[in-house]
Amino acid sequence: MADTKISVGPSDSLWKIAQSCGIPGGGSNWQALRVERGGKTYNLATDDLPGGLKSGDTVVVPSELGASSCQSEVNGASAALAQAPATASAAGQKAQAASGAQPATEVSATASCSTKVIFVLDPGHGGRAAKASFATAAQLKPYKDAVAAGKMTQAQYDNMFDLGGLSWNNALGAVSNTLEKTMTHRLIPLVRDHMNAMKGTILAAQPSIKSIEVHLTKEDEYVNMTGADRAGVARDKGADFFFCCHFDAAPGTTHVHLDITRVKGVVDEKRSVTLTSIDSKLLGGSYPKSAASSAGSRGPTLLYSGHKDSPPKTVQNARIVGAIISKNLATTLQTAENSPTAVSAQGESARQLANISPFNLGTNDPKKKQIVPIYLEADFINVESGDRLWNTAGYNAEIGASRTRWGIPPEPAGATEKEAWKKANLRREMPALPAGHNMFDKAAQSIALSLLLNMHHRIC
Ligand SMILES: [Zn+2]
Repeated sequence: MADTKISVGPSDSLWKIAQSCGIPGGGSNWQALRVERGGKTYNLATDDLPGGLKSGDTVVVPSELGASSCQSEVNGASAALAQAPATASAAGQKAQAASGAQPATEVSATASCSTKVIFVLDPGHGGRAAKASFATAAQLKPYKDAVAAGKMTQAQYDNMFDLGGLSWNNALGAVSNTLEKTMTHRLIPLVRDHMNAMKGTILAAQPSIKSIEVHLTKEDEYVNMTGADRAGVARDKGADFFFCCHFDAAPGTTHVHLDITRVKGVVDEKRSVTLTSIDSKLLGGSYPKSAASSAGSRGPTLLYSGHKDSPPKTVQNARIVGAIISKNLATTLQTAENSPTAVSAQGESARQLANISPFNLGTNDPKKKQIVPIYLEADFINVESGDRLWNTAGYNAEIGASRTRWGIPPEPAGATEKEAWKKANLRREMPALPAGHNMFDKAAQSIALSLLLNMHHRIC
């Protein structure tokens, strides 16, 4: 069977084409496509497509994807493209099931204001490690050789490379080396718990609303889901609000890159070897780690869908509720930090992100449930003060041994060894914060309250 070629029209998107072609994984698997432009072919699994998909490009659906229905559906354009996005893909449903989420209840496609308000909360990232699918055989060879030579176990190898999904992690704590994905999976279940604890009080004050449901896309930090699958959960649950939470890495600060080759005995043990010198694509992005930013403006940032097909109302309401969440969280962080200057709400910007894409959420169709998608970067953990506030010594002791830490060896006992270890790993003493300080709990409470008090910004 030959590859299928599709001429791109003005309203086409990669997601729509992948979706309408019925390729495995649906629209979220657009990286499986290729694009021909000006005599050049872009393989979307590895190449950036400058400026995104444009009218006049040709999308190539490789024959091995077995997307036999592609041509007819795309030719029959309106029928296929007007159809609702599929529910979360099989992989996404599996991840959702694995995390213990309940199956979706039937929600009418034209749901109007009901007496129930539904929240879906999404902890950013998940899974184990780098994207082996982005690596070439040559890039993987040193690691495979290390396994063969007994310098690295198969388990270490498997922990290093994620087998699929989107970015498994992004930001990394400046001094604690805590992974962003660990933090989001700590915070989001707490937000749910606080919402559940408070909702009785809220309901008593809002007679028109009889019930509030809070769902998570997933709870297991070792499970990843694509952005589209996360949006799929919001859609399947009939969410009024979809709240995505991440911990950012500040742009523009001095970075050293995390070196994935530091697993002892493999390739190179020197800290100075940067990720970019290996291949940033191997990890699906850069992993900034602040070496020296003991200060720096930080605080929550709000991202909203910058997609041209976003319904104005969903974006408007996401910005209203998101700005309130971000302002309240900034105040909560300032109080905990005991500093009104180190933290402030860092504003907002528009991005085209798969989990808040109107196509993935189905909100580009006015007949479908309009979901308000709020995407919060809760703080900047590659700024040292941010890392210290969230990831206390106690928290790190608790998560330490059980978490993937890029092969960073455990803290040795002897004073000299400990000093050497700290130096090699850019680690400093974690602060002695007041007894009972738990930034996750404080932040979860702030976010939960902000969400519940702004339910009237749902769209129905
Ligand atoms: Zn993130």
